[in-house]
Amino acid sequence: MASKTIKMAQTSLLLTLLSPTSLAAQVQHGGLTVTYSDARDRLQLGAVFRAWDAAARDLKALGLPPPAKVSVFAASGAANFTALTGESANIAASTRGATIYTQRLTALALSGRLPITIRHEAFHTAQPAGTPRWLAEGLARTFSGKANNDPPGLTGLGNLSADELDARLLSRDPARLNAAYTEATRRAGQTVRLKGWKAALAGKLSP
Ligand SMILES: [Zn+2]
Repeated sequence: MASKTIKMAQTSLLLTLLSPTSLAAQVQHGGLTVTYSDARDRLQLGAVFRAWDAAARDLKALGLPPPAKVSVFAASGAANFTALTGESANIAASTRGATIYTQRLTALALSGRLPITIRHEAFHTAQPAGTPRWLAEGLARTFSGKANNDPPGLTGLGNLSADELDARLLSRDPARLNAAYTEATRRAGQTVRLKGWKAALAGKLSP
């Protein structure tokens, strides 16, 4: 009872943060709840649901079903996204447990990133607890298909330890951050190719 009250208070605080001037809208799609505050984002809901359904099906096939209930909070703009998450404006989305925070859905759609972002964050909702940051990001980018756009060749970060790579993934400098994401994806993707998803998820890394 008490925790439910706290949860409701958190939700209404979030709604206030999401939409300081107008009422946020909330839409249900199976176990997925999407809350948005820019009315134009309604036009993107179909794309969100399609990407979510495909990701959930593919995650289940990997033995990684996403949580039964997942919430998506779409920010009203980049500044609002930063206020909600503390992340910088160039980050598309951020997931904590079963809650996904995204940039404005229309902004993600216009930059061609909406389906891949939903798929990436769907992976984060389903990843095993305790997965190291670099492995989680590398596997999420492999799962989403984003890895296909990575530049070929070495990243120059091949000598970093796992801990050093984790630290680099917290960088605020977009160039350093991109190289770290690419390196994490190269390592994770190699394990998936050589040993399969189950071994990669269990942290059984290829040398
Ligand atoms: Zn991620």
